[in-house]
Amino acid sequence: MQTRNLIAGQWTDTGSGGEIEVVDPASDDVVARVPMCGASEALIALNCAFEFQPKWEATPFTQRAGVLRAAAAMLIARKDSLARLITQECGKPLPEAAGEVQYSADYFSSAANEIHALDDMHIALDKPGVRGVVRHRAVGVCAAITPWNFPLAMLARKVAPARAAGCAQLAKPAEETPLCALALAEILLECGLPPQCLHVLTGDAKAIATTWLMDGRVRKLSFTGSTETGRLLLRQCSQEIVRCSMELGGDAAFIVLADANIELAVQSALQAKFRNAGQTCICPNRFLVHKDIASEFAARMAIAAAQLKIAPGLEEGSNIGPLIHDEAVKKVRAHVADALKRGGKLVCGGRTKDMRDRPDRFFEPTVITNCNPNMLCFQDEIFGPVVAIMSVTSADQALEIANASPFGLAGYVFGGNHATALAVAQQLRCGVIGVNEAAPSNARAPFGGVKWSGYGREGGIWGLMEYVTTQYLALRELNT
Ligand code: NAP
Repeated sequence: MQTRNLIAGQWTDTGSGGEIEVVDPASDDVVARVPMCGASEALIALNCAFEFQPKWEATPFTQRAGVLRAAAAMLIARKDSLARLITQECGKPLPEAAGEVQYSADYFSSAANEIHALDDMHIALDKPGVRGVVRHRAVGVCAAITPWNFPLAMLARKVAPARAAGCAQLAKPAEETPLCALALAEILLECGLPPQCLHVLTGDAKAIATTWLMDGRVRKLSFTGSTETGRLLLRQCSQEIVRCSMELGGDAAFIVLADANIELAVQSALQAKFRNAGQTCICPNRFLVHKDIASEFAARMAIAAAQLKIAPGLEEGSNIGPLIHDEAVKKVRAHVADALKRGGKLVCGGRTKDMRDRPDRFFEPTVITNCNPNMLCFQDEIFGPVVAIMSVTSADQALEIANASPFGLAGYVFGGNHATALAVAQQLRCGVIGVNEAAPSNARAPFGGVKWSGYGREGGIWGLMEYVTTQYLALRELNT
C-alpha cells in the first residue's frame, strides 16, 4: 500500500504538519498513516509542476495516449486490490468498489481514445492568402481537489484528461480517503508517466489550496465536493482568474409517472439510492411519485429495502456499508427527524442498526412517505440511505418541484411511454438525466451540473476540452 506523497518527482513520507490517520469507517481501525502536508510542500510541488509543464505539453499524443492506455490496463489488472482499498477507506461494498475501479479505468481509455480531438483545425477564410488555424493548447498547470465518496474515480476523471491535454497536475484527495489517490499515482508512474507531471499531496486542504490558487501559475482548478467548499474556492480563484470546473452537490429528483413500470422504477430506485449507502452526488434525493402509484411504490420499496444486507463493505453479500463518519450519521438523523416532525410517515428504517462492537454508523435503509418541499430532506442533500417520497398529482407538479431546487446535477424520470418520459426529462434543469435508467454516468459521456451543482463537464471529449484553451491563428502566406 502506497502511503507516501508524490512531490516534485519523489515519494516522501514526511509532512510539515505531522501525519493523518486513515480510518476504516466500518471498524475505526487505523488502515494507514499518510503525511500531513501544508503550504511548504504545496509550493515545492507547484514549482516542479510549473517547470515541467512545457515538457509534458511537448510530449507527442501517441506517447501520452500510451501512458493512458497502460494505466487503464493496470487499473483493471489490479482491480481486486484497488477495490479492497476503496472499501477500506470509504466503506462501500466490495462489488461497488470493483465497479468504481472499472469506471476509473474507463476514464483513462476514453481520454486516450479522444486525444485526437485536440488536433489542429483549419478554417478556410474568405480572405485571399490568409488561412485560419485553431489549436488546442494545454491550459497549463492544473489543480485537482477531490471528495471521499469515489476516492479513485473522482481523481481518475481529472487525471486522465489532464494527462491527455498535456497539463502537469497537482492533486489533493480528501482527508478520509487519500490511499486510492496515492495508488493511482503509483500506477501512472509504473506506466511511464514522468514523476514531475503529477503531484499528490495529502494534508491541510486550506493551506494547500490557497498556496496553489493564489500563486498565479496554476491556471485551472477542477474541484469535486460540496457546494459550500466550491464557493470558497471560487472566491480564491477570482484573484488570479483561475479557470474552474466545479462538480458540486446534488439534490436529484426521481420522478415516477403514473404509467411507469413500477417494478423497474423500484429496482432502479434501489440501485440509484442505496449505492454507497446513499452517499453519491447523483443519488435521488426527492422521490416525486404519481399519486395513483405512490402507495404501491413505497410499499415495494420498503419490501426491497428490507432485503438489503447491512454489513461492512468487505463482508460477503453486503449491500449497505457504514456512513463515512459520525457527522454524516448526525446529518441523516437530523433529516429523518425533521421529516417526521413535519408530517412524514416512517415506513421502514429511520435509525442506525446495532452492529455490536462496530461503530454506530450503519444506517438502515429508510423509506418516508408524505414528504413535502418544506422538509430538510427535500432542500439539502441527505447523503444517506433515505428514500423521501412525495405523492404528486401530475408530471407538471413533479417538474415544478424538481426544478425549484437551486441544485441541478442529476434527475431521473420513469414512465411507460418513452415519448412522454423523454418530454418530461427534457424539461428538467439538470446536467445528467436517466430516463427509465438508474445509472446514467458513463466515462464517454459528459457529467456535470447546472446552478448550485456547478459547471464544467467530465468524461469524453467534453472532459478533455476542460483542460485546453483554444488558440486561433490567422496565417497570411508570404510570397518569399
Ligand atoms: P467537501 O467537504 O467539500 O470536500 C471535498 C474536498 O475539498 C476535500 O478534498 C476537502 O479536503 C477539500 N476542502 C475542504 N475544505 C476546503 C478548503 N477550505 N479549501 C480547499 N479545499 C477544501 O466535500 P465532501 O464531503 O468530501 O464530499 C461530498 C460532497 O461532494 C457532496 O456534496 C457531493 O454531492 C459532492 N460530490 C459531487 C460530485 C459531482 O460530480 N458533482 C461527485 C462526488 C461528490 P479535506 O478532506 O482535507 O477537508
